[in-house]
Amino acid sequence: MQRDPLVPVLLRLDNDPPLFLARDVEGERVSWRDRLLSLGLIQEVAPTQFAVCGECQQGHIRRVRWLTDDRTGGVKAFLPCSECGPVQISPDQLRRWAVVVPTLLENILIAAGGRGNPTEVVSGHLWHLGSVPWEGRQRDAYFARCPFHKSLGSIHGALMT
Ligand SMILES: [Zn+2]
Repeated sequence: MQRDPLVPVLLRLDNDPPLFLARDVEGERVSWRDRLLSLGLIQEVAPTQFAVCGECQQGHIRRVRWLTDDRTGGVKAFLPCSECGPVQISPDQLRRWAVVVPTLLENILIAAGGRGNPTEVVSGHLWHLGSVPWEGRQRDAYFARCPFHKSLGSIHGALMT
């Protein structure tokens, strides 16, 4: 079943940083990954250096080791699993993509019929989107993400000023 590609994007915004791992975008989701990339809503970032062993299904997460093949000179990635020993993995398994929050917020403002330029108010957590029409008036609109623990006080304080 095809899901709305914005659903996983919005759900990722509650992670800090808002990343998709290769295993998150495998299978049917590859098409929405490419669509989100073309819209600029996600971008590829540096690959992770950790992976889960896919051989034993025990959930062993290990730092990837890079070894050079003496014969070919090529570099290969291995996962040193305590159950399976060294397991070769594809570098594609380490790829990651981050949600481009400013681009997402610009598009949310457009979709809401608003105007203005999203401005970060609390770093990484709260943005003033601009003004949006609401019940016959233009009103200030804000977007908050990860309103947990340390950021909640800053978000609340900024909204109360
Ligand atoms: Zn294993």
